[in-house]
Amino acid sequence: MEALPIPSDTYKLGFIGAGKMAENIARGVVQLGLMPPSRISTSHSNPLRRTAFESFGVSILSRIDDVIEECDVVIFSVKPQAGEEMSFELELIEFLFLSKKSRLTSEAITFKKKLLVSIAAGIKMKDLEEWPGQSRFIRVMPNTPSAVGEAASVMSLGGSATEEDADIIAKLFGSVGKIWRGDEKLFDAVTDLSGSSPAYIYLAIQALADGGVTAGLPRELALGLASQTVLGAATMATKTGKHPCQLKDNVTSPGGTTIAGIHELEKGGSRGTLMNVVIAASNCSREVS
Ligand code: NAD
Repeated sequence: MEALPIPSDTYKLGFIGAGKMAENIARGVVQLGLMPPSRISTSHSNPLRRTAFESFGVSILSRIDDVIEECDVVIFSVKPQAGEEMSFELELIEFLFLSKKSRLTSEAITFKKKLLVSIAAGIKMKDLEEWPGQSRFIRVMPNTPSAVGEAASVMSLGGSATEEDADIIAKLFGSVGKIWRGDEKLFDAVTDLSGSSPAYIYLAIQALADGGVTAGLPRELALGLASQTVLGAATMATKTGKHPCQLKDNVTSPGGTTIAGIHELEKGGSRGTLMNVVIAASNCSREVS
């Protein structure tokens, strides 16, 4: 089936699942001026979720079907209800897209005109593409700093998605952070690293602040300094293009305080511990999948 191009200046964006991640992406897109909120829609039964989206101009449609029908790019951002299996998400997509396809006859909603993006962690591209009539999928794995425009996302294109589709998704997710392209087989490892690591860094910030308090700083100042220092170091690593080892060497004077601190980190096996936490996340996700 030939893919019809998504009109890059006028396309409509819809979210199935009006949760936190959908809100982050929609907000980022609107704040960056990538598209007016009038071209974005979602649907939700909960008034609080509806208000969250309406507060920055996103349209709330009465039914999910309307979102699918109306939009050219549909982001699937549903989370399984508590206690339900991941297959729930698959069943929901299948219901929405497959059975709709057979029920709805309008040419305007033929799927060759649509691009479906799934951010659901557990749904594989092959499962999405197995359904007849479904051709254009892109999987994206974002992370929680999307809430502040600093997500680390990776996208993988399904067989029939086009480079133009990839450009559209790179722009959308680029509005909430950075996005790379990678083979889908990397997605579990991506989730193990970028999905879980914000929590490790929060612990590191807390521990650095505790050290500052131990050294005599007021708590609030210590937390502010620790947070800003982590942000500054991450910005140095991303913006200077220098290897972290070089950046570390640049700030360790012979016989100085920083190398004394690094000695303590090495005695505690901090680098091995950080590697181990990613490996532990990986082992854990394989056990539950
Ligand atoms: P969330 O719980 O905030 O949002 C999910 C939303 O989907 C909720 O508002 C829920 O009411 C709605 N929903 C559930 N079942 C529905 C249905 N049948 N029809 C319509 N709406 C329905 O979750 P989230 O954090 O926004 O995550 C959404 C998806 O993004 C998940 O699949 C998750 O795996 C993926 N994801 C999340 C993150 C993250 O950092 N939060 C990172 C990567 C991927």
